[in-house]
Amino acid sequence: MFIDGKWVDARSGKTFDVTNPATGEVLGSVPAGGSEDAVAAIDAAHASFSEWSNTTAYERSRLLYRAWELMTERSEALAELMTVEQGKPLKASRAEVKYAADFLIWFAEEAKRVTGEWLPSQRPDQRFLSVKAPVGVVAAITPWNYPISMLTRKMGPALAAGCTLVLKPAEATPLCAKATYEVFVDAGIPDGVINLVTAVDPAPVGEVFTSDPRVAKLTFTGSTAVGRVLAAKSAANLKRISVELGGHAPFIVFPDADPVHAAKGAAALKFLNAGQACISPNRLYVPTSLRSAFEETLCSRVEKLRTGNGMDEGVGVGPLINDLAVAKVERQVEDAREKGAGVPVGGVRLLEDGYASGHFFAPTVLTDVREDMTIYREETFGPIAPVIAYDDPDEVIELANDTNYGLAAYIYTRDIAVAMRAFEGLRFGIIGVNDVNPTSASVPFGGMGDSGLGREGGHEGISEYLETKTGGFAI
Ligand code: NAD
Repeated sequence: MFIDGKWVDARSGKTFDVTNPATGEVLGSVPAGGSEDAVAAIDAAHASFSEWSNTTAYERSRLLYRAWELMTERSEALAELMTVEQGKPLKASRAEVKYAADFLIWFAEEAKRVTGEWLPSQRPDQRFLSVKAPVGVVAAITPWNYPISMLTRKMGPALAAGCTLVLKPAEATPLCAKATYEVFVDAGIPDGVINLVTAVDPAPVGEVFTSDPRVAKLTFTGSTAVGRVLAAKSAANLKRISVELGGHAPFIVFPDADPVHAAKGAAALKFLNAGQACISPNRLYVPTSLRSAFEETLCSRVEKLRTGNGMDEGVGVGPLINDLAVAKVERQVEDAREKGAGVPVGGVRLLEDGYASGHFFAPTVLTDVREDMTIYREETFGPIAPVIAYDDPDEVIELANDTNYGLAAYIYTRDIAVAMRAFEGLRFGIIGVNDVNPTSASVPFGGMGDSGLGREGGHEGISEYLETKTGGFAI
């Protein structure tokens, strides 16, 4: 763990092992932190806040810029670490490290764009000034599926704004968090400004993060169930919150679209990170008229995907993070099969040689998926593409919106009016129009409804770490 500028063990002396999800091999062990360690981390972040928040925006920008340079220089080593710890194919890890570094350079620049304004007064002897101030100590909790970029998406804007922070990474990926912290340490971050608490049992640390009065804000990325609990606890203590949660993205092919092009997009998008992405499509709506062309292309693409260890050349789909994740996917597929879905490709756990010690599920296509199936409503987080046939394009937006989640949605059409109407009608925070990657450090990321509160990235990203201060000056 990293507390007050030093690499330290847990107060309890306990540790836990980190394993490779493709092989079961133990990669190392890290401190099993608890509530006392979380308090020590907050002590350090609190003590360093005054000095850090009084640095100039130019100094903070330079530090973030240096961190971006170092992350970029180390990208290959970071990508390899990510693949062995989290499982995604090396090519995808390289893309994530680049995305992670993008947040550093974006917020290095945003640090210098925090401004205020003069505002009018009714009184001739009065002037109003409104400025932005850093919120204070930030507590951050991150997931395992994007184990470096989910850190920089929070650390970049928090540091740019002048906040100090304590962070607890997911128990499956603490080594990526450690390597990210090493980048900041080598970039010259002052002691106490960033603190890292690793834990195998996250609850006691979460309890401290949401109750310690010195924490001004909680920023969380993870499941809706956990985010809801942590948001409620934080709200009871009047902390600011940003929660980036689960999703259940619709992917709508309109009748005028090219079904082959759309199916290629679906195959590329759905199996990224073995489907373990909050913006992964979970419902593929295809008009009956295009169904056979779409399903044929999708199935032939999915059949060709190679599943295996992400370090091996040509592997497109890695393991799932653990056995519970495989069991969840298996349950959803079985439920769909029992209720009448077709399974033209995949549908099984992979257990034979080469897969036996990892957590693998075959890339799968489900057809004839209907509303009464669990997969229609529950986030999958696995390599399953569920196809739903529809007839009425006027109703499909309503079907797509019929979810508590509102993170990402995708549409395929060649008609600009159809695209515009769908963009306006969909209740989702991120919409890809003939585009399978509608994300970037430069644009806001976040969802509606049960997908969370707040936005990360873009111009809005830094405002989550700032509060407004008004001055009335009598002259
Ligand atoms: P998770 O909620 O189980 O864990 C997320 C983090 O919360 C981990 O660090 C975990 O240790 C911690 N945590 C769990 N219980 C806690 C508690 N009681 N107190 C404090 N911390 C606790 O989610 P996960 O399985 O790691 O991640 C997958 C989920 O994250 C999916 O639902 C996915 O959609 C979502 N996600 C959302 C986004 C987004 O930006 N919206 C991005 C990535 C992942």
